[in-house]
Amino acid sequence: MESPLTEDQISELNDIIKLPRDQQQKSLQPFLAKLTPEQINFLKESQQQKCLFCSIVNWETPQYRIYEDSFFIGILDINPAAKGHVVLIPKKHVKFINEVEDDYSKPIRKIINRLYEVFQCDASVLINNGEKAGQKLPHASVHIIPRYDDDKVTISWNSEKAGEEELKQISQKLRIQKEAPKEIQEKIDEIKDYYEGERIA
Ligand SMILES: [Zn+2]
Repeated sequence: MESPLTEDQISELNDIIKLPRDQQQKSLQPFLAKLTPEQINFLKESQQQKCLFCSIVNWETPQYRIYEDSFFIGILDINPAAKGHVVLIPKKHVKFINEVEDDYSKPIRKIINRLYEVFQCDASVLINNGEKAGQKLPHASVHIIPRYDDDKVTISWNSEKAGEEELKQISQKLRIQKEAPKEIQEKIDEIKDYYEGERIA
């Protein structure tokens, strides 16, 4: 496929790809805004062509598929950490797990149940989100690793006791507001819509 992008656009894109993730997203938006729909389609297609997981989703790569629903597939890892190691992959190409549209806890539960039925094993569930976390491919995935008595799997970190003050500060920064019950949230939305309507009128 011949590239409909100009040389300048390609070099600009290459510079953007080298940026850290947060800056990448910031620079990508104005770049994409300048492109024609054909150019954007070309970028999407070429990105998906190169993606191994997309080619697995589309059955273009041989695989041992053990699970499928509308949003996800589950395949056996060909380099398993332990017998029955499954990789859960969203069908839609998204790079990070927080961009996955549907709730992935449902297929995870189903696969864990099946692994237990077949192998009577426990399981570790591992998501490497982003390069620093060890994500190797640009398509989100979840590892479901069966655990046996004498397996060779090691998932470890060195823990150090944190000070009370530090925990307090971090918890304040990280706190996510409790969601309002659904009926109340609907009322809030209704009121917001009403006032926004007024403002426009
Ligand atoms: Zn992909």
